[in-house]
Amino acid sequence: MSRPFGIDLGTTYSAVATLDDSGTPRVTRNENGEETTPSVVWFEGPGSVVVGSTAKESAVVDPDSVISLVKRQMGTTWSQTFFGDKYTAESVSALILRNLVDGAVATTGNDSRDVVITVPAYFGQLEREATKAAGVIAGLNVLSIVPEPVAAALHYGVSNDVDGRTILVFDLGGGTFDVSVMTVADGKFHVLVTDGDASLGGTDWDNDLVQLILERYVSETGDVDAAFDEQFIQEITTKAEQTKKALSTAEQKRLPLRRDGNSATIVVTRTEFTDLTRPLLQDTISVTRRALSTLEEKHGITTIDEVILVGGSTRMPAVPEALASTFGWSPKVHDPDLAVAKGAAVFALGRQVHASAERSGNSAAVTAIAQNARLDVSAVAAIANKET
Ligand code: AMP
Repeated sequence: MSRPFGIDLGTTYSAVATLDDSGTPRVTRNENGEETTPSVVWFEGPGSVVVGSTAKESAVVDPDSVISLVKRQMGTTWSQTFFGDKYTAESVSALILRNLVDGAVATTGNDSRDVVITVPAYFGQLEREATKAAGVIAGLNVLSIVPEPVAAALHYGVSNDVDGRTILVFDLGGGTFDVSVMTVADGKFHVLVTDGDASLGGTDWDNDLVQLILERYVSETGDVDAAFDEQFIQEITTKAEQTKKALSTAEQKRLPLRRDGNSATIVVTRTEFTDLTRPLLQDTISVTRRALSTLEEKHGITTIDEVILVGGSTRMPAVPEALASTFGWSPKVHDPDLAVAKGAAVFALGRQVHASAERSGNSAAVTAIAQNARLDVSAVAAIANKET
């Protein structure tokens, strides 16, 4: 039986999930065996397009032929030409989507083209339509476009009783920050407030670290020309992200660098990194405060019952620490990189169950999976109808 895919089409990384026979959402691996795929496209040559990790690595050697962060251009008139062909944000996103689904089909054997794609809660009609168009260009049947925080909360709600509760989803991804507050009543999610900063994300933490690493390298080696070596800066950028990730679990990271006969080993500690990037974290706290004010003003709600952390950047220990010390919350780190894709998979199945029930009644197999996933089909359909 073919089963729909849930796709988290992220600014920096994307992920795909589907439900297994027991109704549990499982993230599918891509053809490199990875659970997340960089949302990066490399126009390698005429008729040759590469998506994912190899494309991301190619930014070091061929930066002018690599497109990243295309999600920021959705719904705009942005375009770029490679080897005589013009690409829009939709068509670049379509290349990513096709790669994601081809990978999922190849590794699962589930030959489905039915998908639910998630978008930030602040995306307006234009951006949502552009996302849907990208799916269509990729040859996919887009069942629905769903807000990312709703998908994350839906995933959380499958294994936790959220009815009657007020949930705040704090989503710090690679290129964007979103905070959404929703309530759940009778299995239906109502988004009450969304706020965020569309140009604040893990990449900004990387950039601060690039500056620090470069300064230390130059002061240790005296190699002042390093700052003008584009390829070297790209290399530091890749290493800065690796360093940042390592510092989420390690207290310090050593970084050997070499250029033009010079070499140095830079050491960065977690405390230094946290101090360096404190203003960025403070920006997320200010936006969260603003969302809470709006929640009180518009809905008279002053208590948050659950805080869900979403987005790879919430793995930085400083994030839950700041939320705990500022607001007294105990945030749940619940699959931060994968919650959105998994929630989208739950949603996708609910949508398929609902659609096929309307046509001809569900097959026993589909109904069983939906029941195992504790899916309230009518509730999912209600969200689907509201959100698309
Ligand atoms: P997302 O768009 O939600 O996949 O988030 C991707 C962002 O999360 C990127 O900026 C990654 O560098 C960042 N990220 C992923 N894993 C970690 C980690 N362990 N520690 C810090 N940041 C991470």
